[in-house]
Amino acid sequence: MNNQSISIKSLKHVWHPCSQMKHFETNPLIPIKKAKGVWLYDFDGKRYLDAISSWWVNLFGHNHPKIKAAIKKQMNQLEHTMIAGLTHEPVINLSAKLNKLTKLGHCFYGSDGANAIEIAIKMSTHYWSLKRQPKKNKIVYLKNSYHGETLGALSVTSVPLFQRNYQQLLRSHIQVDSPDWRFKKHDQSEEEYVSEKLNELKRVFEKKSQMISAIIIEPMVQCAGGMGMYSPNYLTGLRKLCNNYDIHLIADEVAVGFGRTGKMFAIEHANIKPDFICLSKGITGGFLPLSVTLASNDIFNAFYDDDISHGFLHSHSYTGNPLACSAAIATLSIFKDEKIISQNKIKSKKLTVLLDEIKHLPLHNFRHLGMIWAFELDKCVHIENFTKNCLHHGLFIRPLGQTVYLMPPYCISDNEMQFMVKIIKKAIENEIH
Ligand SMILES: *Cc1c(COP(=O)(O)O)cnc(C)c1O
Repeated sequence: MNNQSISIKSLKHVWHPCSQMKHFETNPLIPIKKAKGVWLYDFDGKRYLDAISSWWVNLFGHNHPKIKAAIKKQMNQLEHTMIAGLTHEPVINLSAKLNKLTKLGHCFYGSDGANAIEIAIKMSTHYWSLKRQPKKNKIVYLKNSYHGETLGALSVTSVPLFQRNYQQLLRSHIQVDSPDWRFKKHDQSEEEYVSEKLNELKRVFEKKSQMISAIIIEPMVQCAGGMGMYSPNYLTGLRKLCNNYDIHLIADEVAVGFGRTGKMFAIEHANIKPDFICLSKGITGGFLPLSVTLASNDIFNAFYDDDISHGFLHSHSYTGNPLACSAAIATLSIFKDEKIISQNKIKSKKLTVLLDEIKHLPLHNFRHLGMIWAFELDKCVHIENFTKNCLHHGLFIRPLGQTVYLMPPYCISDNEMQFMVKIIKKAIENEIH
């Protein structure tokens, strides 16, 4: 078995996500046989550095022994049971830990990030109807946001390519400008831009708060929308506005949670407490699908009643799966035992310094927060060829338009960082027209 034979089989049987299948005629699939640390190994024996942590889910490297051991141990005890009417230790222990970390009250589980968003949206609007304000059912979302691709989540996602063909199925909500500093005017400071955006938002809230249930945001970094970054002052201002106008704040930390931005959760940059936090991706260290929506006590209490229809009647078959929960508990203990957040500070500085070597090349908007780095390649660099070139030399990346970003697993070593920068530099130099 080699790359080619496996690819043929895959293309015959698998419908690959977020892809035009025909493009695989010219851009071959890479069949992965095994992975360890930052490295993915194909069937021809070549290895690739996973510079985007397998769509941002991997935290400490592939095949991590502690997470693997935790899943194995749990597997011998209890593989799965439903948690409506029943409960089990992994889901209790994980929830207690997450509640302590976020200071929110209760954890509601799903399997993917998009589930967590659906749940937050349903809970928020249901809350307002329980409070006899059923007209509060619109969600405010930011331009360039990404919250997932199921219908509810897609309704508050503003990536036109993902929305275009499903417009008739989507509910229309309220879009506002993004605080992403790349959109500021030339003569504006970042902070001036942020207060302008907060003022605009205030006017929307002022006019429409009677119909607004919640605002959903990706704190600090709008990831899939092109790694747009913004000031924590936006979050501080936003929390105040939400308080003043009785609007829930949903923090979608699916991508930025678990240390990506340099803090355990990105909301910590502004020290704010949202009404909902959505978590997924890194939660199991990249081993198993799991998501959670954390809700404040105020939200939880509104549903607490004798009447069943006042309850939150939502479920997924694998809600609170014990194997996934045990992987998540192991993930949290690695953060603690190996002091990941402070170790990452050192790594973050190192890679930022190494990347100085590429700043003279035709690229702009170089930005960085925690374990995320991004820049736009100038139009003179052919992005597809650039990506192929990186791959050829053993670096797996997946640019968003002209935006190149790095989100490597936290276990990345000095040598591996140097390798990454060297390949990127060469690939840009090669593709300047
Ligand atoms: C990936 C992502 C989602 C959706 O998660 P899935 O697991 O792909 O459904 C939601 N919000 C953000 C910010 C994301 O990056």
